[in-house]
Amino acid sequence: MVRKRTGNNQFLKKFNQAVILDLIRREKGISKAELAEITGLSPTAVGVITASLLEEGYIHETGTGESKGGRRPVLLELKPRSFYAIGVDMDVAYMNMMLIDITGEVICERTMHLSESTAFEKAVGRLEDAILDMLDEKVIDLGRLLGIGISVPGLVNSETGEVVLAPNLQWENIDVKSHLIRLKHVPVYVENEAMASAICENWIGLCQDVGNFVCINIKSGIGAGIFTNGKLYRGAGGSAGEVGHIVVDENGPKCGCGNYGCLETLASTTRIADKAKRLVRQGIVSSLNEIKDVDAITIDRIVEVARGGDEAAKNILMESARYIGIAISSIINTLNPSKIVLGKEFIKYADLVMEHIKGVAACKSLAFPTANVEITASNIGEKASALGAAIIPLKVLFGK
Ligand SMILES: [Zn+2]
Repeated sequence: MVRKRTGNNQFLKKFNQAVILDLIRREKGISKAELAEITGLSPTAVGVITASLLEEGYIHETGTGESKGGRRPVLLELKPRSFYAIGVDMDVAYMNMMLIDITGEVICERTMHLSESTAFEKAVGRLEDAILDMLDEKVIDLGRLLGIGISVPGLVNSETGEVVLAPNLQWENIDVKSHLIRLKHVPVYVENEAMASAICENWIGLCQDVGNFVCINIKSGIGAGIFTNGKLYRGAGGSAGEVGHIVVDENGPKCGCGNYGCLETLASTTRIADKAKRLVRQGIVSSLNEIKDVDAITIDRIVEVARGGDEAAKNILMESARYIGIAISSIINTLNPSKIVLGKEFIKYADLVMEHIKGVAACKSLAFPTANVEITASNIGEKASALGAAIIPLKVLFGK
């Protein structure tokens, strides 16, 4: 019985500590009296908790606040550069890493290019080297690292930290943490990349005060992170958000999933580039024809010539936007979100196609949910997954 009570007490202590720490984060300068008032905890309890947070170095005293009669109260704030978290966005061609501190400030970031044939063991070995190197460079002790979040383009088991299946990386049933041997004492969290982006938008981006929203990542693949009532929606098996496989044209191209006309086959940046290559080979009138190596046509080049007024390039982007609009109309009708944020490579050409997407979505969805939704481009963009992954250990610390 005694042991059980101790367990409960410890849980309560940790819970109260997280609540206090989160309030200090959100208020950015708050007194102990205010903490007691907001939480309903006794001033003594708040005193004990804040003393321990001060001693452990999570927070510091920062000036004094307004007096309500008597002494001016000391304000508490998160202590910048006291604790850190690392986020990694793993992709086929690159690994993007972000080091942030407890306040969410980005301390440094690195991108490493990978070849498509980089095997899992090699990729993880390079990741481990890079993390240790980055900490070394910034003179950060491993004990100050709250955790590492890793975002992958695939299905993960967020409970066990296992990557169940990431087809593009060719990872299947992989426990990443067990391979990070030199970081074995650091908590490792694995997350789907679209869900990591949604976490990022919710923590520091456009969806901080929004409980029901969808973040759609558009790059070589298309996926979504869904929040309902302020919480990430994973679905029964953890695979929710595969909007890239919404069929938008039954007679469309074959998809990697075996189906035909999935959104991904008509609007991913890789497929947009493939379409441009095909049209150039067919002799389309476009300044894309001036590119000697047709295979070198990329989304960046298409966007560049479209901005220069090239009609063919603009049409290619607009066609992909129409399919995105069609898929979004289904999402609006099904989920009734208040915000839909489009991110990743999409931000390179968002301004060129956004109105078209909104028009198609509004035309094809029901009036009521359409009136309540805002469709917008992310202002974090390509770094959202790495940042979102870095935020996961912070969320754990703040009890979120
Ligand atoms: Zn598909």
